[in-house]
Amino acid sequence: MDIKGLFKSVIHSGVKLLYPPRCLLCGSSGHDGMDLCGHCYQLLPFNNAACATCALPLPPDTPENIVCGRCQKKTPYYDKAFSVLSYQYPVVWLIQQLKFNEKLVHARLLGELLAVSGCVEKTGSDEDICILPVPLFKKRLRQRGFNQSIELARALSKKTGWPMELNRVERIRDTSAQTGLDAKARRKNIRGAFEMLKPLLQKHVVIVDDVVTTGSTVNELSRVLKKAGVEKITVLSLARAPLNK
Ligand SMILES: [Zn+2]
Ligand SMILES: [Zn+2]
Repeated sequence: MDIKGLFKSVIHSGVKLLYPPRCLLCGSSGHDGMDLCGHCYQLLPFNNAACATCALPLPPDTPENIVCGRCQKKTPYYDKAFSVLSYQYPVVWLIQQLKFNEKLVHARLLGELLAVSGCVEKTGSDEDICILPVPLFKKRLRQRGFNQSIELARALSKKTGWPMELNRVERIRDTSAQTGLDAKARRKNIRGAFEMLKPLLQKHVVIVDDVVTTGSTVNELSRVLKKAGVEKITVLSLARAPLNK
């Protein structure tokens, strides 16, 4: 772990001591050591009915192993994507607090949700595996002060023991203008946004992102990784946006 990582993990432990688990949504005591009560946990929009390839939320009665129309038309570069939640209330609020107000207790809860979800088991237990948080553009990182995907990846790495790889891929273009673009325009906008700095030694890479909207960012990152020789890619995200968002 680098100094910065060590510093952050010390802060995380401090946060846990100073603030015992309390539901971030209603203020009741936390359940199972989480910053969420049992009731609010039950009400979370878990992404249980989803495309078997890209994790796009599908209607609740959709059977398992269904692949959405978009994936049938064009297979993504990654092999599988799993998302714990559907990106809607109150998940939107929880993630925005983390992103824009740098609330470390939110990072703790969201990281735990990612780690305890069945997504980890579904990813498999390859020995040759690593976690790669989606990199932010440098200027954006400076503005925000931290990368929320790294915070989630750190929690996942702690839980699974899978090593987290940083500084292997760089985001060389600011693609913040993605918001408001449709899927096709997003694909075009993101093309060429990532560059490999150093090759990855592992064959199975788990890309971690907080929110996957259309999937064009993780798909472009996967394209670059596969081109660099990565054999298998699983995308793990905390939340996936429904089609109309
Ligand atoms: Zn609650
Ligand atoms: Zn799909």
